[in-house]
Order: sequence, then C-alpha cells, then structure tokens
Amino acid sequence: MRVRAFPVRDVMGKVNRFVGIAEDITNRRDAEEAVRKSEEQFRLTFEMAPIGMAISTFKGRFTRVNQALCDALAYSQAELLELSFAEISHPDDWEIHHNLEQKLVNSQETSFQIEKRFIAKTGLVVDTLLKVVVVCDAQGKPLHFNNQIVDITERKSMEQQLLHDALHDTLTGLPNRALFMDRLAQQLKRSQNQSGYLFAVLFLDLDRFKVVNDSVGHLVGDKLLIEIARRLQKSIAPTDTVARLGGDEFTILLENISSKSEAILVAESIYQTLSFSFHIDGYELFSTASIGIALSSQGYEKPEEILRDADLTMYSAKEQGKARYEVFDRSLRDRALQRLELETDLRRALDRGEFEVYYQPITSLSLGVLSGFEALARWNHPTKGAIGPGDFIPVCEETGLIVPLGNWLLKEACQATRSWQLKYPEHPPIKMSVNLSGQQFREEQLVDEIKSILAETGLSGKFLKLEITESILIENLETVTEIILKLRKQEIQFSIDDFGTGYSSLSYLHRFPVDTIKIDRSFVSQMQSNGDNSAIVKAIITLAHMLDMDVIAEGIETTSQLAQLKLLQCEYGQGFFFSKPLSKQNAEAFIANSRQW
Ligand code: C2E
Ligand code: MG
Ligand code: MG
Repeated sequence: MRVRAFPVRDVMGKVNRFVGIAEDITNRRDAEEAVRKSEEQFRLTFEMAPIGMAISTFKGRFTRVNQALCDALAYSQAELLELSFAEISHPDDWEIHHNLEQKLVNSQETSFQIEKRFIAKTGLVVDTLLKVVVVCDAQGKPLHFNNQIVDITERKSMEQQLLHDALHDTLTGLPNRALFMDRLAQQLKRSQNQSGYLFAVLFLDLDRFKVVNDSVGHLVGDKLLIEIARRLQKSIAPTDTVARLGGDEFTILLENISSKSEAILVAESIYQTLSFSFHIDGYELFSTASIGIALSSQGYEKPEEILRDADLTMYSAKEQGKARYEVFDRSLRDRALQRLELETDLRRALDRGEFEVYYQPITSLSLGVLSGFEALARWNHPTKGAIGPGDFIPVCEETGLIVPLGNWLLKEACQATRSWQLKYPEHPPIKMSVNLSGQQFREEQLVDEIKSILAETGLSGKFLKLEITESILIENLETVTEIILKLRKQEIQFSIDDFGTGYSSLSYLHRFPVDTIKIDRSFVSQMQSNGDNSAIVKAIITLAHMLDMDVIAEGIETTSQLAQLKLLQCEYGQGFFFSKPLSKQNAEAFIANSRQW
C-alpha cells in the first residue's frame, strides 16, 4: 500500500490554517465578548447617567429612555416609551427641534445642541439642554438618534429671576427705566416704519411726596408708592407699560393710540384714581401728581428725546401749580432752552457783580414814619437789561445758587442798614427785612453765616427781620423751627411772607415761632373802597394780634387801602403807594427826605 506522503509544507500549511481558524474563533469570541462588555457598559452608563438619555427613531418615538429622564419629566419608563418627542415637547419648541433633526439625517453633521422645553407629566415646563447625536451603522447609514437631556430648569429660573430683577423696580415690581426704554425704543421703531402710528409717553411726578416721607416716615412712604403703582397699573390697558423711574417718578407708555385725547383720557383717569385717599398703617394720605404728556407725532429720532419732552412738560405742569397735566408743544422746548441759557448766565452773574439790591420802604402805619426796608434782589443782565427776581430766584433755588446769592445779598443789606443807622442817627434805627428761601434752610452753615455777617457789618440782630414763606415752614417744620430758635438768640426777628397764598393754615399759625405776618398783596389789592372784600384781611389781622404778632400789609397802592388798613390796626404797610423798590442811593435819599404820612 502506498502511503501517500504529505509534503511537510502541506502539513504545515494545514496546521497553520487550523490554527488560523482557531484563532479566528478565539478572536471572534473575544470580539463578541468585547461587544457584549461595551454594550453592558453602555447600558450601565445609559441607565445610571445623572442626565436624561434617550434613544429615538427618526420619527421621534422613544425606543429607550433612562431613569434620569423619567425623573425629570415625571413619567415612568413604560409611559415614555409610548410617547414621542412631539408629544412631550413645548409646542413652541418642537418645530425647531424637528427641523434640526431632519437636517442632521440629511447632512454630514453628526450632532446638534439646543435649549428646549418639555412639558412634564405634571404639566410643568422643564427647561433642558438637549444634545442629539445621529448613530450610523458601519456603512454610515443613519440608524437612530442618541439624545442627552440636561435639566436646566433651576439655572433658567435663576437667569430669569436675574433678568427680571435687572428690568424691574424692587419696591413696586413695576418695569424699571431700562425695560421702559427698551419698550419705548420698540414703539419708536414701529412709529417710524408705520405711518400714522401713534403712541404717547406720560411722565408723572408725585406732588410734595417729600412731605409724606418727612412727616410719616419712609416705610409709610414706600407703602404709598406701592399702592400708587397698583392704582396706576389699573388705570391703563394691559398692553401698556407703567414703569417707576425712581423716587416718586413714574412713566407710562401708551401704545397704538388713536389721538391725543386718548392720552388725555388716561391722564384724567389717573387723577380720578389718585383722588381717593390711601389708608396706610393707620394714616389717611392723599396724593396728587403732575403729568407731562408727549406724543410720538412730534417725529422723534431717539427714545430719550420723547422721554425728555414728557419730563419737561411735567415740570411745566408742576410750575403751573401742580396736580395737573400738560401736553408737550415746541414752545416748551424753546422755553427750556432759554431757561438753560439763563442758568448759564446766572452762574457768572455773581462773580461779575451783576446783582444789585433794591430797597422798598416799609412804613409804620400808626406812627406814619419810615420803619425800614425790604431788600429785593435785582439782576442787571449785560444784554437783557434788568431782570426781576420772579424770573431768576426760582432758577437760583433749583441750582443752589440761591445760597451764595442770598449770603451776598444779606451782607449787602446789613451793611447798608448799618451805614444808614450811623448816617441818620436822628431817625429811628432803620430795620431791614431780607427774604430767605427754603434752600438756604437746608444749609447747615446758615446760622454761623448770618452770625458772622452781623459781626462783620456791626449790625445788631434786633434790626434784622428774615422773611420766610409758609411752605418753607410747613415742609420742614422741625428743622426750620430749630434754626429759627437759634437765630432768635441773636434777637433776629422773623416774618411769614405772602401769608394766605400757601397752605393758608390758620390753625398752624400758633406753632410758628414768628413775630410778623405779611399779608399777601393779592388780598390787599382786592380791598374795595366801600370795605368789600376786606374780610380776609380783617381775619388775618385779628388772628395775628391774638397770637401776639404784628402785621405788614404788602402791595398798598391806594389811599383807601391805606385808610382801611389803619382802621383795622395793621401795624405796617409796604407798597407802591409809599414807594417802589429803590436803588441803594435812592433809598438813602428816601431816608433823608422821609416825612410823616
Ligand atoms: P416778596 O418778598 O413778597 O416781595 C414783594 C414783592 O412785591 C416785590 O416784588 C415788590 O416789588 C412787589 N411790590 C411791592 N409793593 C407792590 C405794590 O404796591 N404793587 C405791586 N404790584 N407790587 C408790589 P419783587 O421785587 O419782584 O420780588 C418778588 C419776589 O421775589 C419777592 O416777593 C420774594 O419772594 C422774591 N425775592 C426778591 N428778592 C429776593 C431775595 O433776595 N431772596 C429770595 N429768597 N427771594 C427774593
Ligand atoms: Mg418778601
Ligand atoms: Mg411778599
């Protein structure tokens, strides 16, 4: 028998092949084991992941979801597997998600990431960060999506809170200036693009809110602001905006109005709603406001411009007597410009020596002789000529210039008085009345300043009388009283100027530490020769005498007024009947020639 001999090479080849197959088998097993292991790892990672994970089909159905996702959306695994992405997405967010998925399948991209909202089983909105990865087979054919879903609800709500805080006033919860300006800018854009589109801005400032704060305290003041904010909100349509700019300033944006009268109606309804008293912590409080209205029809370029005009108009409403509204027109802006010019000129006026003091005689009605003068400021403007105090004192008060001006004027007047006393020793000592503004009472140095002026000029305090208005007293009763008492130690006297025009608070009068009442000229001028209309003057004089005060009647122009005032035992008189305010030189001549009336 022939034994077939296998060539060694062949044998080795076969062995090698067997070995190869065996190796293949081992490798495959290894590979299978590896796949099994990695699947297990994936499963574990998937299941245990702290973030939500889901595998979904291209139709948006879930084929696998993990526990974290179930927890975030409050569904069980079984429930989620019955649902699709579309069904649990926030309706506003599904389309964008879906479109991105489509794009992913049809492009070379492998993933996308978006912020999107889901609706949990509880109905609550869940904010998430969603990352979608497309999974492909070995040939690159897309198989399904892998979704990673991070719950960012807390972060989002914190972000929203921060955003809300940045755009709202903490006290009232109303939109703040930033948000208001943003909405205003949107409205302006709309009116620029859409002809005939009209909107309005109302600028509202509470009248005398400071008095509330000063009298009943800031806590009550804050509560009043909150209550006012609520009432304002009720006076406007839900689409309009009420904002608090700060302090007692509010702004209102009225969108898409048909005419100016619609804005006026809102202003009127605000007055209506503010006319009811506020009951806060046991206090009954009243509040009025001054409102400036600006309409978009003026053709504005920037949102700040319309706000500025509304603000300007509000100021004008305040100047016109408060508790009223006004609608902007161009003349207001011209006035504001003139005013700015005046302010600039005023700042230089003191240094340039453009101010002058005029002196108006005050006569003793019982003795019929000159008793003294009231010092009145005059401004000799280099180009505009003489300007009366009515036109520049309010500006000085607002800019604080009244303090240096007042000090200068006081010194001038004291100096003149002292020199006249020395020059005319035979004349009963001349007294000087000087007006003080509220602003000066806010200066700590006022008392020292006055003392040093008296010392410097050598005038005794008993010849100086300071005139203040009722409003200064009422608005700051405690501080002003304190200052008055300090100055009284220098024998300085005080009178209430323009009495009857301010708060007319006869009942307050006994609380004011003053010596004299000056009856406002409006009452004196109304006194008829037959005695009509003199009741108020009579009442004021009687009351003053009961309180041990004396009276100066302002604005006496006729003999009959003089005669009646004498009859009513009014002590002093001042007015054109005796003399207009005089320059220093003419005042001196007036003393020299003074005669008995
Ligand atoms: P006031 O203190 O009540 O001064 C009286 C004003 O009435 C003066 O106006 C005076 O010229 C005017 N007057 C006096 N008699 C008559 C009259 O018979 N008929 C008429 N029609 N008017 C008369 P003036 O000088 O224009 O001052 C206006 C106001 O300006 C003053 O009213 C006072 O409130 C304020 N003022 C004037 N000078 C100063 C000042 O130096 N400091 C402060 N804070 N205010 C001042
Ligand atoms: Mg006066
Ligand atoms: Mg007066």
